[in-house]
Amino acid sequence: MKTIIEPFRIKSVEPIRMTTRQQRLTALQAAGHNVFMLHSQDVIIDLLTDSGTSAMSAEQWGAMMRGDEAYAGSPSYFRFRDRVRDIFGFEQVIPTHQGRAAERILFSTVCRPGHVVPSNTHFDTTRANIEATGARAIDLPCPEGLVPGEPHPFKGNMDEARLAALIDEVGAERIPLCMLTVTNNTGGGQPVSMANIRGVSKICRDHGIPLYVDACRFAENAYLIKLREDGFQNTAVIDIAREMFSYADGCTMSAKKDGLANIGGFLATNDARLAEQERDLLILTEGFPTYGGLAGRDLEAIAVGLDEVLHEDYLAYRLASVRYLGEHLSELGVPIMQPPGGHAVYVDAAAFLPHVPPLELPGQSFVAELFIEGGIRAVEVGTVMFGQRDATSGQEHPAAMELVRLALPRRVYTQSHVDYIVEVVAAVWQRRTSIGGFRFAYQAAALRHFTARFEPLYALGVA
Ligand SMILES: *Cc1c(COP(=O)(O)O)cnc(C)c1O
Repeated sequence: MKTIIEPFRIKSVEPIRMTTRQQRLTALQAAGHNVFMLHSQDVIIDLLTDSGTSAMSAEQWGAMMRGDEAYAGSPSYFRFRDRVRDIFGFEQVIPTHQGRAAERILFSTVCRPGHVVPSNTHFDTTRANIEATGARAIDLPCPEGLVPGEPHPFKGNMDEARLAALIDEVGAERIPLCMLTVTNNTGGGQPVSMANIRGVSKICRDHGIPLYVDACRFAENAYLIKLREDGFQNTAVIDIAREMFSYADGCTMSAKKDGLANIGGFLATNDARLAEQERDLLILTEGFPTYGGLAGRDLEAIAVGLDEVLHEDYLAYRLASVRYLGEHLSELGVPIMQPPGGHAVYVDAAAFLPHVPPLELPGQSFVAELFIEGGIRAVEVGTVMFGQRDATSGQEHPAAMELVRLALPRRVYTQSHVDYIVEVVAAVWQRRTSIGGFRFAYQAAALRHFTARFEPLYALGVA
């Protein structure tokens, strides 16, 4: 059979409230043209993020009823710990309320001012938590990762030569750890190859630098290795995942991604002495070490989710649905980051709207038009999110790329929803020459994309 079906039946549904174009225009204006300020009930298809938006299975809901809410020593913790040990292979397992709490505990334990932490690409909360300790976060992506239109199977790889050069330059003693983000969020979840994980691990081990994996989308990365890397076609995904982590000394994880849960995360390592310090900090801000800021039922949902996320039928469907969206957009001529990655398709808004200069925020225009056209909520990953504004002169500097991310929540939307997304993008593509730019009406000093307000410089949504 050529159709890869959703490998699940629907047993509980959540209605989508349909809206008219006029209602969407009104809602967008009321939100200051910032889709983060919309009420989610006004959204028809929500592609803002894949984080915490997964649909849970009947098994997960069943396990939640089993959740034991004992303050200390809950069996729910031991089930969670054993599942993490089995897949990730780390002895010490510290639950946290989400990924960034694991990051804060890890970095505030090992980083000091003057330290440097390299990664293929740091996620924004990872970077912020490193820099909050006075250390410096450095991105060392492979060069292929920076060219949106050029396909490459492992655009998430780290540049090993630059890592070696960095270690020579600053000295291993100033690098408390090295990170690898799998998949690399930049570019829609581009995978890291096993060869690259091995290579980075060898460089780190030769210099006595611990390697940590930011494991949020580990299952998607493992499956992309199976699909794309020689020698893994007949390896079980769980064994690929185990091998990936065998080269590392620890990991941070947001269970809101490949944990198939709506909240949760963990920090794991084999270093018992370090874990002791981390647990002390955990008790201070998150909770006792056997719950770490989560309810017992959340630990149960994650334990089951970590098992289900490695089912190969699920992963085949997951990667096929992202690929399906990417291929159909490409067929229309819509410029996207190639190839589509694990959890999202990125549209190149600078190429979609070449007549809109970067400082007129073409990604913001595309996001606004997607919402007006079909009630789809996407997110700008360009100058709004990453542009720099000179604090004294107010001069704006554009980001390196103007991308718009269409992130697919896990197990939430069906193929007809994806066909609808393609139709909405096609309608916006048809009338792209009549679409203009935006300017900021208000922006905060930091993380401005969440709360900014915008004004259009053209007549919005004119078909
Ligand atoms: C989401 C994410 C995090 C942070 O996790 P939260 O659960 O949102 O705190 C860290 N790294 C990556 C790659 C992520 O995608």
